[in-house]
Amino acid sequence: MSQARHTKVLIIGSGPTGYTAGVYASRAMLEPILVQGIEPGGQLTTTTEVENWPGDSEVQGPDLMIRMEAHAKAMGTEVINDIIIDLDVSERPFKAQGDSGTSYTCDAVILATGARAKWLGLPSEEKFKGFGVSACATCDGFFYRGQEIVVVGGGNTAVEEALFLTKFASKVTLIHRRDELRAERILIDRLMKNKKISPMWFHELDEVYGTEMPLGVEGIKVKHTETGQITDIPCKGLFVAIGHAPSNELVKDVLETHMGGYVVTKPDSTETSIPGVFAAGDLTDHKYRQAVTSAGMGCMAALEAERWLSEQS
Ligand code: FAD
Ligand code: NAP
Repeated sequence: MSQARHTKVLIIGSGPTGYTAGVYASRAMLEPILVQGIEPGGQLTTTTEVENWPGDSEVQGPDLMIRMEAHAKAMGTEVINDIIIDLDVSERPFKAQGDSGTSYTCDAVILATGARAKWLGLPSEEKFKGFGVSACATCDGFFYRGQEIVVVGGGNTAVEEALFLTKFASKVTLIHRRDELRAERILIDRLMKNKKISPMWFHELDEVYGTEMPLGVEGIKVKHTETGQITDIPCKGLFVAIGHAPSNELVKDVLETHMGGYVVTKPDSTETSIPGVFAAGDLTDHKYRQAVTSAGMGCMAALEAERWLSEQS
């Protein structure tokens, strides 16, 4: 049933940014509404061990996000399971349309929509998505017990995914387009010591192939970046881990973006070019993209929203 809700502060997104904004906005007595989106808890729900969240030398990503949600709720944030499909910030109060049919109006909005996995864009990758091609090892790794798997990428995500997949796979090949990983040193050391993982440098994915009925991956072809030579790698699963792009769909036509779609904010601030619209976390951050920096920006956004709202009244 459609309903209309008004709030002083609407927080869009339920990752570390959104929940931290919820904690601070609640403590400022702003009674925020937080809309979770399609991925309640955000990107950390797609990983296992998180070892760099201060206060926890090791915590499971999904558990951490359950705790953050509980914290935001305990402080007074109303958490709603809905997806914002349209946002109008041309006049105040701002208007947001929920997929559930609920219409939200708000005096200030905090955009915390984060980022999502990038894909290579090959037709064969698209064809086998969900049928052997995945971007989430924790979601799909279990299906590949005793099988050979390939991971594409050279950042923290690719290395973590490769390490995680060794729990299931008989062999993991890591394909990277250079011979240097951009992952953290500690992760690279673990990767190099793991006998189940074979790195393959200077290679890019050329094609995924497999069976039609049922649809399933049987292998991939990779191309040497310098010689162009094609190599065939039989495998049952392909995990694409080539980075993340900001989820800017709601505002990309009204707010300035840069560096591949990240929303531009004022220096040392979460303020955007539209007064009352604040943006934080991975949606704005092309540089650090960490849970702790996102949480920090969520805090900044709530404090700035609170100050801005007091100035208006
Ligand atoms: P996200 O976590 O991306 O959350 C975005 C939220 O916005 C989601 O809840 C989504 O549902 C919501 N949303 C999007 N669109 C809409 C919409 N239209 N309506 C409503 N809601 C919407 N960082 C670390 O510090 N340590 C780690 O160990 C670590 N491990 C990682 C492992 C993996 C596999 C990945 C992918 C990332 C990892 N990161 C890690 C990075 C970290 O997850 C991100 O920096 C952090 O989650 C960003 O937080 P965020 O709240 O800005 O966005
Ligand atoms: P990333 O750091 O941007 O790395 C993406 C990797 O994919 C790079 O190695 C890149 O190669 C490669 N790549 C990009 N486009 C490609 C293409 N078209 N073809 C082939 N390879 C391609 O992304 P990420 O690993 O997803 O990490 C995103 C953010 O989350 C980072 O800030 C990271 O620190 C954070 N994160 C943190 C942790 C942790 O703290 N433990 C875990 C996961 C993620 P090049 O190197 O050649 O550019």
